[in-house]
Amino acid sequence: MERNVQLAYASRTLNKSEKNYAQIEKEVLAIVFGIKKFHQFLYGRQFCLITDHKPLVTIFGPKSGIPPIAAARLQRWALILSSYRYTIQYKRTQEHGNADGLSKLPTAEEEHEDSSQREAGLFNLRQINMSPGTVKGFVRETDKDSLLSQVKKHVLSGWPSGMDQTNPLYPYFSKQAQFTCYAGCLMCGHRVVVPESLRKPGVHELHEGHMGVVRMKALSRIHVWWPQIDKSIESLAKSCMVCQQEGRAPPSAPLHLWSWPSKPIYRCHVDFAEPLMGKMSLLLVDAYSKWLEVIPMTTTSAASTIDALRSIFARFGLPNQLVSDNGPQFVSAEFNHFMKMNGIKHIRSAPYHPASNGQVETAVQTMKKKLKVMLSVVQYEPD
Ligand SMILES: [Zn+2]
Repeated sequence: MERNVQLAYASRTLNKSEKNYAQIEKEVLAIVFGIKKFHQFLYGRQFCLITDHKPLVTIFGPKSGIPPIAAARLQRWALILSSYRYTIQYKRTQEHGNADGLSKLPTAEEEHEDSSQREAGLFNLRQINMSPGTVKGFVRETDKDSLLSQVKKHVLSGWPSGMDQTNPLYPYFSKQAQFTCYAGCLMCGHRVVVPESLRKPGVHELHEGHMGVVRMKALSRIHVWWPQIDKSIESLAKSCMVCQQEGRAPPSAPLHLWSWPSKPIYRCHVDFAEPLMGKMSLLLVDAYSKWLEVIPMTTTSAASTIDALRSIFARFGLPNQLVSDNGPQFVSAEFNHFMKMNGIKHIRSAPYHPASNGQVETAVQTMKKKLKVMLSVVQYEPD
C-alpha cells in the first residue's frame, strides 16, 4: 500500500518581549506555535512532539502534569496543549538538526503578541509593585545578589541537565519550571522572588498589623517568595510578643446550642437589659414559643427579681428550667431557694460567657429596636 508522506515546516522569530522569556517558556512557546500552526492536521489525532528540552518531557509528559504553581504563561499553554492528544519525546540537540536548522534561518522580524501575554505581564507587574520594593529596586538587588543573578541567567538561557543537591542553586534548579523573568525581576509562579537584601524589609512588611504566623504565611503565598520564607516568618512571629499572644489566644468557645423544648414554658431564659427610658428591664424568653416578657424594674435585687418572675409564672405556669447568667441576684441564696421551692432547675451560663444565654441576648437586641419605635411600655409595679 502506498503511503502519502507529507512534510511541512514553519518557523518564526521571537518578538521583543518573547526574547526575555525564560528558556523553558521559549521552548513551550515553540511547541504551542507549531501546534496552532498545524491545528487542522493535529486536532483530534494522536501525534508525537519531539523536543530537545528535556524538562518539557516531564512537565508535559502523560504522568506528571504541570506543577500547580508553574508560571502563569506555562499554565495557560498547558491548558492549550491539554486539548490535543500527543506523546512527547526527547531528542538531543545534536540529533535535532531538522528543527534546529530552521532556527538558524530566521525570517524577517514580525511582531506577534497576543493580549493574554500582555495581561500576564501586567499581573506580574502588579505583584512586584505590591511587594516591598519597586521594579527598579528588585532588578538592581536581584542582579547584585550573587545567587539570584545566576538563577536569572539560568532561567533566561536554560538550566544544566543535572545538579548536585549541595549546590546552593539546587533549591531553584529543583523547581525550575516555576521560574520566569519579568521586567528583569525573577518570579516564582505568580510570586516575586525577593533578593536576600530585601527579605528583611519584606518579612517586616508581612508582619505589619501583627496578624500572626498563619495570616503572614497566607499573605506571602499571594505575593512573595524566597527559599525558606516560611521559616523566616515563623522566627519573626516567635520573637514578637503581640503575634505570640495572637497565636495563643484560645479559639472562642463554641456556642452552646440549646435544644428546642417540646412544649411552651418548659425552659425560659432570663436576663436584665440596660436601662431604657431610665429603667432596667427584666427579660424572659420562652425557648419554645420565643414569647418575650419585658418587665421594667426599679431595682434588680433578688427580691424584686423573684417578684417579677412570680407574676410571669402566675400567668403562664412554672417552667421546668430557667437559664440565667451569673448576676448577683441569680446566684443569691434567696433566688436559689425560690427555684428549689418551685421545683425549677436553675441553669447558669458559663461565667464570662454571656453568649451561651444567647436566646435572651437576641431578645435584648430585638426589644431595644422595638422599644425605640414604641412610645410606651406596659408598666409593672412590684408591691
Ligand atoms: Zn507581631
